[in-house]
Amino acid sequence: MSDCIFCKIVEGKIPSTKIFENEKVIGFKDLRPQAVIHNLFIHKKHTKNINDLSQNDPSQLAEMFEAMRLYSEQENLSKDGFRIVTNLGPNAGQTVFHTHFHLLAGEPLGHFGS
Ligand code: AMP
Ligand code: ZN
Repeated sequence: MSDCIFCKIVEGKIPSTKIFENEKVIGFKDLRPQAVIHNLFIHKKHTKNINDLSQNDPSQLAEMFEAMRLYSEQENLSKDGFRIVTNLGPNAGQTVFHTHFHLLAGEPLGHFGS
């Protein structure tokens, strides 16, 4: 999509610090990290959020999770652990409307849930 900043990152029109890339998926550092390791994983094909993706192109889900598995193994993150988060809509604070997963790691993260 022409006005989407993450599509522009895919096309190389705006800079990013890539930490992963294959034919379908890229991972890059978040501009405003919320943890020692804070990366975003996106599919190269635009969808606007996780429900749009699940309804229209669900195979992207497996491709993104496989990318995050490979990255987490390369960086040996499984032992100490990591968190994957996605936001949809205003109550969750979604600000970029190209589906993305936040992958947070590198330190103990605030406990989520009871
Ligand atoms: P969300 O609030 O879930 O929509 O997440 C959007 C994330 O994208 C935020 O954590 C931003 O810091 C991050 N972000 C926005 N623009 C860029 C960019 N050009 N490069 C890297 N991260 C970005
Ligand atoms: Zn996009």
